[in-house]
Amino acid sequence: MGARARRKCVSAAERTLRRPAELAAAGLIPGNEVAGLEPVTARYELALPPALARLIDPADPADPIARQFLPDRRELQRDPGELTDPIGDNAHSPVEGIVHRYPDRVLLKLLATCPVYCRFCFRRETVGQGEGMLPPAALGQALAYIAARPEIWEVILTGGDPLALSPRRLEGVARRLAALPHVKILRVHTRVPVAAPERIDAALIAALKASGKAMYIALHANHPRELTPEAGTACGRLIDAGIPMLSQTVLLRGVNDDVETLASLMRAFVEARIKPYYLHHPDLAPGTAHFRLSVEEGQKLVGALLGRLSGLCQPTYVLDIPGGYGKTPVGPNRLRRGEGDRLEIVDWRGNTHSYPPG
Ligand code: SF4
Repeated sequence: MGARARRKCVSAAERTLRRPAELAAAGLIPGNEVAGLEPVTARYELALPPALARLIDPADPADPIARQFLPDRRELQRDPGELTDPIGDNAHSPVEGIVHRYPDRVLLKLLATCPVYCRFCFRRETVGQGEGMLPPAALGQALAYIAARPEIWEVILTGGDPLALSPRRLEGVARRLAALPHVKILRVHTRVPVAAPERIDAALIAALKASGKAMYIALHANHPRELTPEAGTACGRLIDAGIPMLSQTVLLRGVNDDVETLASLMRAFVEARIKPYYLHHPDLAPGTAHFRLSVEEGQKLVGALLGRLSGLCQPTYVLDIPGGYGKTPVGPNRLRRGEGDRLEIVDWRGNTHSYPPG
């Protein structure tokens, strides 16, 4: 099929694509790749919603949107260093649905499904496996765990993607969290504003605000093309409703591992009133070696952003230490011990200056 004909099919895809044959019918992959990709999507779930399918240019073999969301045979190759639970969620999960890694905050994993499945997902061994929400008994136990610990100041709703839940279910959770006075902050991690922007409507926003608590939304996006006008409108609705937004981006080989793309992405976030927050070093998830780059390469990219972009646009480059030991900033070190007691500090142009010890 020619590129033009394939594009025509893509624009006609109006529902989420879940099988390689559907990708081929939409012109996103050649028909002769379907059989080879069936074992990949049998192992790791596939979902490509229309808003993201429309962004893919099938004529471009290096398309950064396709790379993130279309299955690849290399996903079945497992490197010896890769881990089933790369950031150690299980080591800190006292009850189903809760990850309690740091003293003052917990993750509440409300569901294990997403509107789109990223081919590099750090929870790929667990997301896409179940259906719907955490069962009522497990949700009750998770909320009881939070209720019994006054040191928990922040609850991070994650999964899966919590904004894939219906407004009714989200509001139910928000109202139960509203009854816990020591929980002051709710944070939602989501890809919905880019993957299904039409879901961000008045009912969903009302559900999010039902807790009455300070609420933040962290948007996962990795390439500036994901921030379409529709995504911008969806984010604008949330922000105008009094919900501040942050970003999180995974540094990915072949998607955003160049300064121009990262700079455009960070500026696009800020232009959409979203504060860049985390730039994640890619985790050691199974079958994702083709996405990974070294920490040194990441540090070079982040160092190049420093001189080029406003402070508003600077994310924190972090690595999740395998085993569940948490996130650590791993940006380039600009400070070192010089002669005597003095320090040497490197400016954004790469020039070194001497600074008194204090
Ligand atoms: S949206 Fe998040 S949890 Fe869902 S597949 Fe992508 S990275 Fe994984």
